[in-house]
Amino acid sequence: MTYRKAMEWGSGVLALAGVEEAKLDAWLLLETVCKINRTFYYSHMDDEMTTEQYSEYEIAIRKRGERIPLQYITGEQEFMGLNFKVNSNVLIPRQDTESLVEEALKICQPGMKILDLCTGSGCIAISLMKNAPGMTCTGSDISKQALLVAKENGRMHEVVIDWVRSNLYENINERFDLIVSNPPYIPGPQILELMPEVRDFEPVGALDGGEDGLDFYRHITAQSKDYLNKDGYLYLEIGYDQGPAVTNMMCAAGYREVSVIRDLARHERIVKGRI
Ligand code: GLN
Repeated sequence: MTYRKAMEWGSGVLALAGVEEAKLDAWLLLETVCKINRTFYYSHMDDEMTTEQYSEYEIAIRKRGERIPLQYITGEQEFMGLNFKVNSNVLIPRQDTESLVEEALKICQPGMKILDLCTGSGCIAISLMKNAPGMTCTGSDISKQALLVAKENGRMHEVVIDWVRSNLYENINERFDLIVSNPPYIPGPQILELMPEVRDFEPVGALDGGEDGLDFYRHITAQSKDYLNKDGYLYLEIGYDQGPAVTNMMCAAGYREVSVIRDLARHERIVKGRI
């Protein structure tokens, strides 16, 4: 089997399976499995792959054809210019979330104590620590398996983070200058309508925000003031239509300077405030 034929076969299988970016995904899997780049591909398209390469590629394509997310097959996702290990125990880091990190970085200072609640892969905590030196950081998650991934990512990026297994604030006993969180926020009934990659393969615990999607914001806005220092900041990622509801919760909980920030797609994406 040549590289070119493998690409054609792979794209065809994925297109038939309803994968949106069939050709791109077939290429990304070929690139990962064969450890080649585009320059190599275009100059060696008609060369034969090794049998091992082809069988590994075939397995990867079949998995993607079952709508397993590409990132769970390759085991990685880029976020804030950093490479993160992922598996099916963590939400795949989203580009939307980079807006939360970028907004938080504007107020990060050396000496600050920060907490990333519902850390998942650790992408938020780690990219904050990589981009703002001199802070101390705790990352927490309810899932033991997610924390294993976060720890591995922390080691890989050589940042010191205190990883704590905790259902929201249950095992948190200190105060912070900044709390960031991208909690689960999809309304439960809407999960069935999501694309199969998300609905069937991403951890439901990282998606499901309860009946109206706002359960975590209710708990976080009410409890965070007990875990923030005076003038501390709370930065939350939200769904595009949750700005008004979460703003109301923040104001009702006594936060000031509450505002909503939009992401690059102009969707409301972050609610921030100070206590
Ligand atoms: N904090 C992680 C992320 O942004 C996980 C979020 C989650 O599991 N809801 O990717």
